[in-house]
Amino acid sequence: MQYELQGTSLSKFKASSMFREQAKVFHSNSASTHDVIDAGEKALVLVYNGMSTDTLDSLRHKRFCEKVASKTSHVKPQSLPPTSAAAKYHSLRVYLQVQEWKGSAAELNPIDWGWQECEEGFVPLQTSLPPAPEHLLRVIRCNCQTDCSTLRCSCKKHNIECTLACGNCKGTGCTNTSYDNDNEPVE
Ligand SMILES: [Zn+2]
Ligand SMILES: [Zn+2]
Repeated sequence: MQYELQGTSLSKFKASSMFREQAKVFHSNSASTHDVIDAGEKALVLVYNGMSTDTLDSLRHKRFCEKVASKTSHVKPQSLPPTSAAAKYHSLRVYLQVQEWKGSAAELNPIDWGWQECEEGFVPLQTSLPPAPEHLLRVIRCNCQTDCSTLRCSCKKHNIECTLACGNCKGTGCTNTSYDNDNEPVE
């Protein structure tokens, strides 16, 4: 979550009764995970100046389109609202933290509230979704051992250039990229 959002949250708390309504859920010591996820989603939509009909995912898409249309540089993902799938775990952790501060977290298991346990201890769950749809993840990178010049290269086959995401060529060491060593486009 972006740091400057803390200030935004405080001003929303003062200005929006809808936001204060959601905050009550985080204050309550008997909220369900469902209540918290729902309230967190609504609160974040308000923080990002969305409308009551927006979801975080629809708002993220809207903001992305606005930025693509108005910016000359690429859109920084961190400037967009979080996805619902990521915000959900954030909201659960916020709830757990609030209850901790209030001394009423004794009954709450961190595993149910946005944390997972691994060897190093508890780590925050970031999201329940892959970074892109499965079919897209499969086509946007290759793992060629050769120079990506044949259609066995999944990038070339889908008519897209190799990129940093490619396993071996990294988008620089193959023939399927606009940039060769002299920075000249390659046909
Ligand atoms: Zn390749
Ligand atoms: Zn590739």
